[in-house]
Amino acid sequence: MSSASLRRQRILDQIARAADVAQRDPEAIRLVAVSKTRDAAAIEALIDAGQSEFGENRVQEAEAKWPPLLERFPHVRLHGIGQLQSNKAEAAVRLFSAIHSLDRPSLLAALAREAKVAGRAPETFVQVNIGDEPQKGGVAIAALAPFLEQVRATPLPLAGLMCIPPAEPEPGPFFALLAKLARRHDVGGLSIGMSADFPTAMMLGATVLRVGTAFFED
Ligand SMILES: *Cc1c(COP(=O)(O)O)cnc(C)c1O
Repeated sequence: MSSASLRRQRILDQIARAADVAQRDPEAIRLVAVSKTRDAAAIEALIDAGQSEFGENRVQEAEAKWPPLLERFPHVRLHGIGQLQSNKAEAAVRLFSAIHSLDRPSLLAALAREAKVAGRAPETFVQVNIGDEPQKGGVAIAALAPFLEQVRATPLPLAGLMCIPPAEPEPGPFFALLAKLARRHDVGGLSIGMSADFPTAMMLGATVLRVGTAFFED
């Protein structure tokens, strides 16, 4: 087995174990390989190993790297997971099947407009600034309800909520809070869990894991 498939298998095994403990169906968890800063060869090795969902932070990097890969591997789906400027909405709609960082009305309007032009609407996850950190993207908890109403008034499918928890203390309580907000607002998906904390995220209801480092480094 290649090192890419060994690393991927190790992650899948951890997911299976966490799913068993959490009494969840591992098949219901979507695993996104975050390939920011990784080159096409490393990505291709993972595609060969069976990985079909990938995530990128920056539109510019995705535009430089992904079009030839998506042409050769049309089954692959790309997720936009980083902060997104409204003037990148056209490229984001063209490249991404899902966008995890929807966090403000101006971006919502730009994405809805471009989706209409393109005749293709990415799934959207509303990012919540769960630790109320000034340097992080995400809608404030207090503004979530009206923003979700705005999203639901567009044709963009609302797939779930997303957060990046503060570095301290541990992520679990923040994941639990996001899960509570999702229940309160009747939102189905939860995009939580990275290399360091995805088993915890699974215990707390993650439906999409965004795992980077563990796919590419030992
Ligand atoms: C980089 C990144 C990840 C993956 O982080 P790892 O710790 O490398 O697994 C997940 N989500 C977002 C938004 C990221 O920027």
